[in-house]
Amino acid sequence: MEKKVIMTELVVAGSGGTGLAAAYAAAKAGLKVIVLEKLQQIGGNTRISSGFFAINSREQKAAGLQLSKATAVQRLLNYNHFLANGPLIHKIVNSAAEALETLEQMGMKIKLNPTAATTQFAHREDDYKGGSYHMYQDKAQGYQKIQQTLERAGVEFKFGITMQELLSSEGQITGISAVNEAGERFEVHAQAVVVATGGFGGDKKRVATVMQTPYLRTIGVPNMGEGLDAMVKAGGKNIDATALIHAAQLAKSKITRKTSKQHLAGFVKNPLTQLLLTPLFWVNMNGERFTNEDVVYDTVEWANAGWSVGGQYYFVVDTATLNDFTEHGGKLEVSQAGPGADTTTGNFVELAEAAVKDGTAYKGNTLAELAQNAHFETAQFYEAVKKYNDSVQLRVDQQFGKSKKSLVYAIKKAPFYAFTTQVAHLGTIGGVRVDEHLRVLDAEMRPIPGLYTGGANAGGYYEGHSYPAYEGLASGFAWTSGRIAGLSAAKYVKNKQTLPSQPAKNVYK
Ligand SMILES: Cc1cc2nc3c(=O)[nH]c(=O)nc-3n(C[C@H](O)[C@H](O)[C@H](O)COP(=O)(O)OP(=O)(O)OC[C@H]3O[C@@H](n4cnc5c(N)ncnc54)[C@H](O)[C@@H]3O)c2cc1C
Repeated sequence: MEKKVIMTELVVAGSGGTGLAAAYAAAKAGLKVIVLEKLQQIGGNTRISSGFFAINSREQKAAGLQLSKATAVQRLLNYNHFLANGPLIHKIVNSAAEALETLEQMGMKIKLNPTAATTQFAHREDDYKGGSYHMYQDKAQGYQKIQQTLERAGVEFKFGITMQELLSSEGQITGISAVNEAGERFEVHAQAVVVATGGFGGDKKRVATVMQTPYLRTIGVPNMGEGLDAMVKAGGKNIDATALIHAAQLAKSKITRKTSKQHLAGFVKNPLTQLLLTPLFWVNMNGERFTNEDVVYDTVEWANAGWSVGGQYYFVVDTATLNDFTEHGGKLEVSQAGPGADTTTGNFVELAEAAVKDGTAYKGNTLAELAQNAHFETAQFYEAVKKYNDSVQLRVDQQFGKSKKSLVYAIKKAPFYAFTTQVAHLGTIGGVRVDEHLRVLDAEMRPIPGLYTGGANAGGYYEGHSYPAYEGLASGFAWTSGRIAGLSAAKYVKNKQTLPSQPAKNVYK
């Protein structure tokens, strides 16, 4: 039996921020566009995300903020140790404000989060990291409007369709093969393709392999990486796909897909999260202290520190600390990074006992007993506690330079507790090498004709393991890169139609 074939000018696989922005830009430029989406609704992980990084936006100007795009580019390059793609970063930073305005025209309401209101307290003084976060308002209605806007512009959505492979002919990408939920296979023939399938965060095994740890916890839509793999098969180079690690969670917390009123969805609702989100005393799986715990005020630095010790660590407290949290709510500022803490009051000793029963925390009437129960190396753990208690007494951390104000709780009054903590990730980022037009490049840095990508499938915007700690960077990248991919694909197709024998030369200038 012959495969069903659908004809169009541009096919977009995936309808997160990348796919939606690409489809809209290309349709407005006059192309006939079909979007294939694996799920039954648009939005992907972008729909769960909270905001968009843009520099010198209308909202920032209205708020009197004067931010320099050149500074933003420099800062991102520095953060990425110059491993990132300079022209791509330059183009995205310079196009983000316009992409944000287009998103507002598509139907999303936006409100700038002032720097002073950042939930990542480490960003309070930094308008680039904290003050460039343009928050999505009323997302359910926003996405409904976006879909209507795209449909009015002529975009055709097909839901429940999974892209499988890219089709090619004589060195040019000519479409996509796909399968619907009933298992029926078909092809979409097109003059260009935007692969916007959002990485492979739903593939636990692959994430564990890339990140070298089985301990990461996650949330998000189940993107499985078909699009990224197809681009590699077509000659693209996967230069930096990795998990977007972000904050950490208490072990076995219940993950839901619902978005909370706070920034992130699904982390456990339990006052113990106040301990998780406070710079207490942290040790690795061997009982050794490993970082300046003040990183808890920055979701990325926090996750990075946790990943550096295998993705799982413990915060250790004594009974005096628990009592202080019960009676006074603690003496330290509780971070609101990531999902933020559950700030309701509670009896923290009872909560700790419940966690021990639940298998998510360990208890010891002596340090040695705690070390044994939590599988720490006893001598190492002893040494770590002794050093830390000395630091608290002196209010000076000789080891990692933790701030004086955070050196409050010593580990002295038995019983002692160690809570298992796991780094979380928000899907993957990075992927195939692209140029600033979001054309996918082959090993010789040449564009693969007709192939475009963006968002969580595109490489070069991040260094690799560390996501730059600028709020809204990934979500902003999805919309901005998607828009550029759509505009570039439209120029390519138009050029091909007028000059069929000379595709793709200098059409982007
Ligand atoms: C809970 C959560 C919170 C986040 N918060 C933020 C935030 O506040 N700020 C920020 O900057 N970033 C945030 N991120 C990260 C950011 O949302 C993503 O990096 C970005 O939105 C990715 O956009 P995308 O378009 O590439 O992918 P997605 O938005 O994931 O879109 C991909 C789409 O492709 C579909 N798809 C997948 N495979 C196929 C296939 N084979 N065929 C057809 N369709 C397919 C998916 O169903 C999905 O709709 C968050 C992520 C999560 C999970």
